[in-house]
Amino acid sequence: MQECPRCGAQVEKSQLMFTEAGEVCDACHAGMSEPSTGAPPMAIAALVAAVIPFFMSVNRQSSVTVNGQTTGSYMDYVALTGGSAAVILGAIALLPLVRATPRNNRALALVVGAVVLGLVQLLRAFGKLG
Ligand SMILES: [Zn+2]
Repeated sequence: MQECPRCGAQVEKSQLMFTEAGEVCDACHAGMSEPSTGAPPMAIAALVAAVIPFFMSVNRQSSVTVNGQTTGSYMDYVALTGGSAAVILGAIALLPLVRATPRNNRALALVVGAVVLGLVQLLRAFGKLG
């Protein structure tokens, strides 16, 4: 029997494999063989939702007069929907990515970008930004 340097499990010497990360047991190797560099569908969905409002806009501008004071209100529904969806989907996609080992930095960056863009869309939705 021999100890796996990675997880410490006692395994037969024949079960140890040579990898780039050194000698590992079957179980470790199985876990390592899926580096999951692809972006999860949820992350893609979040990004799409965050980007669409840049190309589409359904907005309503109105002014309300209350006690002689005129207040303008602006609302972009595409930005509101897309931004909310991006933030929610991004938050859902973020959790497993943060926990994943090895960390999928590319997907993580994608999701963080989608959430930030989603927040930008929410600001645009209320006319707070360009
Ligand atoms: Zn192991």
